[in-house]
Amino acid sequence: MAGGTPRAALADLLSGNRRFVSGRPIHGHDVTAAAATASGDQQPYAVVLGCIDSRVPLEAIFDQTFGAICVIRTGGHVLDRAVCGSIEYVVGQLGVPLVMVLGHERCGAVGATVDALRGGERPGGSLAHLVDEIAPAVLEVGLDDPAVLALAIRRHVRRTADALRVDDLLAGPVGAGRVAVVGGLYDLATGEVALIDPA
Ligand SMILES: [Zn+2]
Repeated sequence: MAGGTPRAALADLLSGNRRFVSGRPIHGHDVTAAAATASGDQQPYAVVLGCIDSRVPLEAIFDQTFGAICVIRTGGHVLDRAVCGSIEYVVGQLGVPLVMVLGHERCGAVGATVDALRGGERPGGSLAHLVDEIAPAVLEVGLDDPAVLALAIRRHVRRTADALRVDDLLAGPVGAGRVAVVGGLYDLATGEVALIDPA
């Protein structure tokens, strides 16, 4: 619920994921027009920023109904002004107390960044923005690390969450404890979301 505490919002989000994992969602199959209509005015209690990966549909993995969460998805959950502005709107105008950045195992965007850095070739077009934004996480882990992909995925979640915590319009409410920014990791094999920031 908008205006609630970050802690309660996180508990709601994670309990939705447990329903999804257990195979007993209460909203998962209710994708009818009636459910959409019943949502009335939106009162979302969380905003989730995730990857575009087709295996990670955010409303489904958190078992959320219409009107419950705002969702933003970009390749590798990379930030840009539109993403930050959208989160600022949700927090500032809709009173949402929780922002979750959700990465996932075997992320293609992070994998492509590892490949680009190894090959020394920066992609063209706007794809370069994704690689540029993910590259620091990969380089912090180190290209020589045998687990670079898995570790860089986690590092990139934390870096993205950290960037949002100091965002111009989010830093105030985050500092005051009215809003929390957390980082999660989705396991493609089990469907579970683990909280990794704060761990
Ligand atoms: Zn991904």
